[in-house]
Amino acid sequence: MSATIIDGKRVAAQVRQEVAADVAAFADRYGRPPGLATILIGEDPASAVYVGGKQRACAEVGIQGFDHRLDADASREQVVTLIEQLNADPAVSGILCQLPVPGHLDGVELTNLIDSDKDVDGLTIASAGRLALGLPGLRSCTPAGVLRLLDDHGVDLEGKETVVIGRSNLFGKPMAQLLLSRNATVTTAHSRTTDLPEVARRADVLIVAVGRPRMVASDWVKPGAVVIDVGMNRLDGGGLAGDVDFDGASEVAAAITPVPGGVGPMTIAQLLANTVQAARLQAGE
Ligand code: NAP
Repeated sequence: MSATIIDGKRVAAQVRQEVAADVAAFADRYGRPPGLATILIGEDPASAVYVGGKQRACAEVGIQGFDHRLDADASREQVVTLIEQLNADPAVSGILCQLPVPGHLDGVELTNLIDSDKDVDGLTIASAGRLALGLPGLRSCTPAGVLRLLDDHGVDLEGKETVVIGRSNLFGKPMAQLLLSRNATVTTAHSRTTDLPEVARRADVLIVAVGRPRMVASDWVKPGAVVIDVGMNRLDGGGLAGDVDFDGASEVAAAITPVPGGVGPMTIAQLLANTVQAARLQAGE
């Protein structure tokens, strides 16, 4: 079997187009666009690239960007004051604090200060609680992006065996909750799982977010499965690899995401969609 490629670039472009139309409609109704505030503390080059990418993506779809940069030695009080100002600012629909923050600050504590109606990363305790209880709310961008990819590919999750490898707060846990909300049968596997290949082979939909290049071999994949590779691993010799052995797995799976060009592009697209959702929520829609 040679798997169909699930093209994240195409779906992300479609999401961005939808968001641009929604932003224009919102601006018509309320006389202002949705706004996204990013907070970058310090000069970590990778974080600066991510924040720059998010701000550029906002500009492309007409979302107003508020790009806040604080020195690496910014005090907790400075960051708290900024988050409180942004929480209170009606022009700011969404807020994200780029992680990791410098060592003297607590990224989890600071993220939690973001108003949950503006929590476009879906990382606050309130957002996690809403998701766990099945209440409406803002969902983490990467898992929500994966769900959109599966929907776009016409994957019916109802009753399906799904296995998520990885249980991080950022991805694995919210992904499992989103799958449950679609009535999938969900197994969450991790570093302590016994006989991981056997567990993975149960999956009709196998989602991998571990951070180990090409860990999932072709014989971990059930023939005909859909494989979503969230991993983004920089290789020593340059280049990027996913957590799945793409060449081998594509011989067994029915459909698979490539790395790059699969899940990666969906994350920022979903952040933009979340910002519009947050703006509408705050407008009482
Ligand atoms: P993380 O916080 O490091 O979590 C990794 C998870 O993998 C943990 O639950 C860990 O288990 C599990 N794990 C580690 N080694 C394992 C092994 N040998 N067998 C089974 N499970 C193992 O990472 P993350 O933030 O979830 O990210 C995971 C990967 O996804 C990374 O490559 C990251 O770059 C990528 N990612 C990409 C995007 C995107 O936008 N495309 C977004 C988020 C993440 P324990 O809990 O037992 O330690």
